[in-house]
Amino acid sequence: MDRRKLIKIGALGSILGLSKSVFGETSNGILIKENNLIDNEPKKMIYPKIVSTWNHGMAANQKAWETIKNGGTALDAIEQGLRVTESDLTNRSVGIGGMPDRTGHVTLDACIMDEQSRCGSVAFLEGIDHPISVARKVMETTQHVMLVGKGAKDFAIENGFSKIKTPLPEVKAEWKKWLKEQEKIVKQPQINHENHDTIGMLAMDKDGNICGGCTTSGWAYKLHGRVGDSPIIGAGLFIDNEVGGAVATGLGEAIIRIAGSHTVVELMRQGASAMEACKETVDRIIKKHKNLEGLQCGFLAIDKNGSVGAFSVYNGFNFAYTDEKQHKMIDAHFDRTW
Ligand code: ASP
Repeated sequence: MDRRKLIKIGALGSILGLSKSVFGETSNGILIKENNLIDNEPKKMIYPKIVSTWNHGMAANQKAWETIKNGGTALDAIEQGLRVTESDLTNRSVGIGGMPDRTGHVTLDACIMDEQSRCGSVAFLEGIDHPISVARKVMETTQHVMLVGKGAKDFAIENGFSKIKTPLPEVKAEWKKWLKEQEKIVKQPQINHENHDTIGMLAMDKDGNICGGCTTSGWAYKLHGRVGDSPIIGAGLFIDNEVGGAVATGLGEAIIRIAGSHTVVELMRQGASAMEACKETVDRIIKKHKNLEGLQCGFLAIDKNGSVGAFSVYNGFNFAYTDEKQHKMIDAHFDRTW
């Protein structure tokens, strides 16, 4: 391994207070040996490639991959891939099939960022089928980064997006059942690993350019008006094409608190691998929270060489990985078990 990089990383490790085992040197220059991730690829520069969070990432990656193979850009791949998940009416955590807030409104959050650091975002958007495309429209046709609520909806309609009535009838029935149960229990929305699952995607094209996107219906039964990390550039998503990109999933409030995805990218800038950067960012979340009950957060990152890493607070986080040779789910590493 390049000695200068090792020294740099060693220094970074001590600044960050990371344990020696995390930065253990190996004969082949792989910093973390025991993981099953793709962290040992930097020298091979394998791209194009697509990664995205959770099982719904498989179908999304497939579409993103086809888009890239048919000559699309990484940005096209992100938009087309994420639209697949948004279109899946059985998906309860992304798009119009998503779970509502506690007042019965399905409010959607999404953002997109490209290799030139251009970005667009929509939050608290209701009744529009493709928030990721609206986010791209904001990025490409306005001077702004973020539109929210009614303004975002008006913008979408003006730009030809169709209106959809939400929640879907079956989702509404579930919400009504939940509401009845809440009368007996505490009036506090709870988050756990069953009521959230954003899709965040990172795509690297054949030239090594990185783009990313994120789309979600957010925390089921959240307070009306709540916006999570997913549409916030630097929290749910961050790209710096010189360094790499990262996306987040899990409890948005915890991710926002540490500017999660930006933190991952900045750690990579200082020499950490994608995997180390995700781990250190999770460590920071753990350090900042006394009560970790139900506090699942996960990060997925790709560096400029195409090396991928993923790490979460609890077990159970996985991601879809697609390149020329592979199309599969990979389990992220984690700090603790449920
Ligand atoms: N991060 C999303 C939010 O807080 C939820 C999730 O990823 O599951 O809205």
